[in-house]
Amino acid sequence: MADGPGFRTAIYCAGCAHHCPGCHNPQSWDFAGGHEMDVEDLLAVIKADEMSNVTFSGGDPFYQVDAFTELARRIKQETNKTIWCWTGFTLEEIQADTHLAQLLPWLDVLVDGPFIQEQRDTSLHFRGSPNQRILYLHGAPPDDTIPGTVPLVPLR
Ligand code: SF4
Repeated sequence: MADGPGFRTAIYCAGCAHHCPGCHNPQSWDFAGGHEMDVEDLLAVIKADEMSNVTFSGGDPFYQVDAFTELARRIKQETNKTIWCWTGFTLEEIQADTHLAQLLPWLDVLVDGPFIQEQRDTSLHFRGSPNQRILYLHGAPPDDTIPGTVPLVPLR
């Protein structure tokens, strides 16, 4: 419930090379950490929870962009769940790289940019520093409004 609005199945992937000082999850930086799950494994877990939407976090999912693109495509084609994704890359960096950009069409929301310790602000929703943007990628907020969940964060 901390990884986006409402109930969500959050996938914490292993590996992040951004190494932001003050990172909340430095244990996730190791690309050899965690345990392996393939797209089918993850899809089964996601589908088993009918109430929850989906969050990609880490680590940084864009370091495993091929697999996350396949997973996101399957989620969007086979369920009505929304996908929020956190990354240390900026949207502009992703858009400039066709390999990274392949994931964008399948995401509903991207929370982008590195955490900047000097700008840490605990009053922010779903991000640690104000440089990080909550970006609705398809022009309007996704329908994350499951009854009993927290409100959506407005687009800034
Ligand atoms: S991008 Fe996220 S996971 Fe990676 S070092 Fe920065 S805050 Fe940590």
